[in-house]
Amino acid sequence: MSHQPHPHTHTPLAAPAAPTGPRGADTTAITGIARLVTNDPVLGEGPLGLIQDAAVVIEGDRIAWVGPSSAAPATDNRVDAQGRAVIPGFVDSHSHLVFAGDRTEEFNARMSGRPYSAGGIRTTVTATRAASRNVLHAGVGRYVAEARRQGTTTIEIKSGYGLTVDHEARSLEIAAAHTDETTYLGAHIVAPEFADRPDAYVELVTGPMLDACAPHARWIDVFCEQGAFDGDQARTILAAGAARGLIPRVHANQLSHGPGVQLAVELGAASADHCTHLTEKDIEALAGGSTVATLLPGAEFSTRAVYPDARRLLDAGVTVALSPDCNPGSSFTSSMPFCIAVAVRDMRMTPDEAVWAATAGGALALRRTDVGRITPGARADLVLLDAPSHVHLAYRPGVPLVAAVWQGGSLETGSLTAG
Ligand SMILES: [Zn+2]
Repeated sequence: MSHQPHPHTHTPLAAPAAPTGPRGADTTAITGIARLVTNDPVLGEGPLGLIQDAAVVIEGDRIAWVGPSSAAPATDNRVDAQGRAVIPGFVDSHSHLVFAGDRTEEFNARMSGRPYSAGGIRTTVTATRAASRNVLHAGVGRYVAEARRQGTTTIEIKSGYGLTVDHEARSLEIAAAHTDETTYLGAHIVAPEFADRPDAYVELVTGPMLDACAPHARWIDVFCEQGAFDGDQARTILAAGAARGLIPRVHANQLSHGPGVQLAVELGAASADHCTHLTEKDIEALAGGSTVATLLPGAEFSTRAVYPDARRLLDAGVTVALSPDCNPGSSFTSSMPFCIAVAVRDMRMTPDEAVWAATAGGALALRRTDVGRITPGARADLVLLDAPSHVHLAYRPGVPLVAAVWQGGSLETGSLTAG
């Protein structure tokens, strides 16, 4: 029996109608997995919970069983991984996908050493406001699909290029059509109309804009940086969001030292993102709290900046996540494998640490326990690599190693033959 790709569906929960297994849902065993990353040290070796010659059973949209291939139970369907590796789907906790416009020339000038007087984020704000809902929606769909082809099965999406009540709410409605992990980032920059009245913009962000956006968002984020929002403004904005049930996350210490990281820890933020310029006190704060340090090496790569010191964070006991930070200005990549390769090569993470950060780390940064792992009960989000081991993600940079992606038990990308 051949197991060709299912027709693509946009509902990750869709399970085939027939045949059904003993407990009602269709069951599929993936056998012949050379190395399986479970991210559960109880199930296998080391922090990644590695199992050699493994099998995984999917039932409906969930993982039902994990163990040695030889012990795999009977199932409705069986596919053979043919000695390749399987890892959890990547969990991308930081993206800016609701945008329009093009900043190719800005990038080209930066990389060519030519001056370029562009508006930066403002350029994207102007184009995003002018774009139709359909154009924005199609763009998000395209980038989410692009990320999925590279193994990402959970993605957070921020607003932040609207900066008016209506445009921010529209951005979040569009994001919510593609993910449950939506973040209100009205405080990306001070809206151009408020350039000389930043405190009035903070009042808008914490007042009418928050009212319009909170129903569509799970998180609230602030760009805490010189030229964006200072520590006091960031605290006011995050507190207002928290009072409406939005959980804080912070763009912190990207371009310079500042109060962002310590504020994130103090407010119990799920994540402090970037963490490029850190003092000892910042690292102590992260190590002593529950806030994840989410590193976004695509931003340093695409701006020729110095990378965050992942080794220093990890050695201090800080929980680290990785994300591509996909956005049209400073990091126009949706590729988690690219970030893993850079993190290993240039940020001195081990391949195991980088793969963990891109899966389990991202899940912690989104406070999710049902993704970023391949364990019974978790969502059946898996990536089959065209490689015998997850280490190849760093060992073979730039090579498209993602052979198949299951999202909620449904094969979304790739094809397999029956075992
Ligand atoms: Zn960002």
